[in-house]
Amino acid sequence: MAVSKCTRLSGTLIKQTLDSVDSILFDCDGVLWLGDQAIPGASDVINLLKKSGKKVFFVTNNSSKTRKMYADKLKSMGFTVNEDDVFGAAYCLAMYLKNVSKLQGKVYLIGSNAMRQELENVGIQQIGVGPDPISGAQLDWANVPLDSEVKAVVVGFDEHFSYMKLNRAHQYLNNPDCLLVGTNTDTRLPLEGGKAVPGTGCILKAVETAAQRQAQTVGKPNHFMYDCVASQFGLKSDRCLMVGDRLDTDILLGSNCGLKTLLSLTGVSTVEDALAHQTSGCPERLQMVPDYYVDSIADLLPALQG
Ligand SMILES: [Mg+2]
Repeated sequence: MAVSKCTRLSGTLIKQTLDSVDSILFDCDGVLWLGDQAIPGASDVINLLKKSGKKVFFVTNNSSKTRKMYADKLKSMGFTVNEDDVFGAAYCLAMYLKNVSKLQGKVYLIGSNAMRQELENVGIQQIGVGPDPISGAQLDWANVPLDSEVKAVVVGFDEHFSYMKLNRAHQYLNNPDCLLVGTNTDTRLPLEGGKAVPGTGCILKAVETAAQRQAQTVGKPNHFMYDCVASQFGLKSDRCLMVGDRLDTDILLGSNCGLKTLLSLTGVSTVEDALAHQTSGCPERLQMVPDYYVDSIADLLPALQG
């Protein structure tokens, strides 16, 4: 029987929904953990899903870690995981530059060491990681030396983001042939205890504003991230479930790609947010209404243990 959207996933509906899919894509921050604190029961859910024959993937817009670093973090929290099942924004961005942009040249990178590593793994040289303190006067900033081999400005999470980095990106992007690519547009990163810090979306918005153009992004809700998983593992979209805590990235990605969607209320978005989209009557907002929601993915446990 068809059910209406935004239904609490409970009772027999859990098994019914799990039976209808072969692969489950999990967002990480706000679904499996908050900061360095695992969501209680999350690793049991993942491990039991795998044991029952489901393919499980980890799909995160967070660009602060390589695939290997994510696999290590998951393992340390008790999750069974292969590095190849992790699709982080740093890795997907490197795949995008290599396979879609076919970039010939260097990258000016506003991002982390993890992003540097993923770029190097596919043979792309980069400059820019680390602090970039300001010196001189405004005219010096406008004439800051540029590397003529740089063909793209790439923006991800950068804890050293500064005015000088913004300025350097601006100067590179004065060249209309220089690409502007970002990992994602998430504006906040949820942490334990109800806390949050500004996300990559805030940094990317600053660069876009300075450059007066919009970046191409590879993270959710862009279908590129799903395409990376689907092409490597031969997924069928109608046999996939996307699980996330954000309506505007995770759930929208699922809708964009024809996946079933499940909102976990352990992170950013609330049921009220989803219902507001549902009653808006706006076609774009309806795409952000999940099929199902749970208080936590631990709600799936009884169906998996039974
Ligand atoms: Mg999340």
